[in-house]
Amino acid sequence: MFSPEINANSLLEAFEQRVKLYPSTIPSCVQLGPKNASFTVVIGSAIHGNETGSIPAVISMIDDLSEDLESLNACYFFFLGNTDAIRAGVRFIERDLNRCFHLSDSKSLEGKRSQELASILEKADLFIDYHQTNQPAVFPFFTFAYHEESYCWAAHMRAAEHFVTRDMKVAFSSEGLCGDEWVRNKGKSAVTLELGKAGLSHDAYRTTLASLQRVIGFVETELDHGRRPIPKTPEPELDLHFFEVAAKLPWPGDDAALRPGLENFQSVKRSEELGIIKPGETLTAPMGGFLMFPKYPKRDSEGRLIEAQGGDIVQIIRPLETHPRLLWV
Ligand SMILES: [Zn+2]
Repeated sequence: MFSPEINANSLLEAFEQRVKLYPSTIPSCVQLGPKNASFTVVIGSAIHGNETGSIPAVISMIDDLSEDLESLNACYFFFLGNTDAIRAGVRFIERDLNRCFHLSDSKSLEGKRSQELASILEKADLFIDYHQTNQPAVFPFFTFAYHEESYCWAAHMRAAEHFVTRDMKVAFSSEGLCGDEWVRNKGKSAVTLELGKAGLSHDAYRTTLASLQRVIGFVETELDHGRRPIPKTPEPELDLHFFEVAAKLPWPGDDAALRPGLENFQSVKRSEELGIIKPGETLTAPMGGFLMFPKYPKRDSEGRLIEAQGGDIVQIIRPLETHPRLLWV
């Protein structure tokens, strides 16, 4: 399915062909397997429209599963989060869909979509949400609040070895609730995987497909044996490496800029120069660690910001010395 020539619009078309064959109750969402199954898996792609990297593997997986629909034990939903944003090649159209899961906005495009998606996510026993970062990442990583069963699923996927986590009581963003948070808050498993830099790539394709095969293979085998699918706690040698956000550097103002080329999980030393607060004033790392979500907002030809910025310019994460299970549960 994957070829580097493929573009987002032809991918979207290919996905919508599968939706016609295997519709669910909402647009741009495929449903496979028995409706009354005892276990339901929901797979999310492109909740942010520019994060298309998982879609080719999702289409391959749908085609694979649809060859023998009768044999499926679990019910599977595969959705594309924000198709208008995919078409436009942007993160979102009106507001960030992955901050809309308080479900109180029924006016904006993304607010309406969050309500549609919630009608599918409320059925999920397991939700896997594939994302990508704006800047490159040294390697793929998981990022979600610590929840025992979700963590076991993440380790079982073997899609990444690094897990940036936090106490469930701490929200990911002050701007609103994410889809995976909404599912975990209901006591169900939800995993967010960051596949690397936004867009199509062989790495994103391979990582997504291998992780889907591991998850779906396990779910089907366990249900075949009459067991509820819950992966075991990983053996120490296969355990994830845990990280937490140790510093958030607030956006310093319109003249701020990071030095070019900073990546997710790039290591930094204390006092290392990260960029400028304004001309003549440097921005430095308040501590050593690894960079997370470095922000390079778009500017016009005269260097002015196209959109007002808030939040953080970059975060610094550090390894957790203690297993999160002992810290927060
Ligand atoms: Zn995303």
